[in-house]
Amino acid sequence: MAAEQQPPDVDRLARSMLLLHGGHDDDHEHGHGGHDGDSGGSWRKAPDFASDPARASAVAESTTRDRERYLNSGLAEVDCRHCHVSVRVKKLGPAHTSVQWSSAATQRCAYFTEIRESGGDPARERACPRLSDSIRHAVSEGCLEEYSSAPSPGDG
Ligand SMILES: [Zn+2]
Repeated sequence: MAAEQQPPDVDRLARSMLLLHGGHDDDHEHGHGGHDGDSGGSWRKAPDFASDPARASAVAESTTRDRERYLNSGLAEVDCRHCHVSVRVKKLGPAHTSVQWSSAATQRCAYFTEIRESGGDPARERACPRLSDSIRHAVSEGCLEEYSSAPSPGDG
């Protein structure tokens, strides 16, 4: 009798699938912050708002709310009319305005670039004079509220 019937390969197949599955499934599903060495794992988890318009609008809404909060605390964005950088400005008093230059704004500002190119040190300048004009304009238009640390009158 030469009829050797081999058992079907299902068993072997199933085992190799199991192996494959097991190999794939390291323990990256709960990555509670033990190791910091593995970067890039979170990137593919980045939410895709394009496929989720409701979520996207929710995010946009919260961004608007954030901006309003900045405005409410006296911090406003002012664009330099000359070089079109935007900086955050907080008016602390009639003669005291705090300007927060981001490094990107400093890089882009034409006035600072001019100083740099002529061998000067832009850090010694307090601000771009054109931007100062823009800030004055924003104040006169009421875009910038004066920030007062005085408590609201609630004595009675
Ligand atoms: Zn400027």
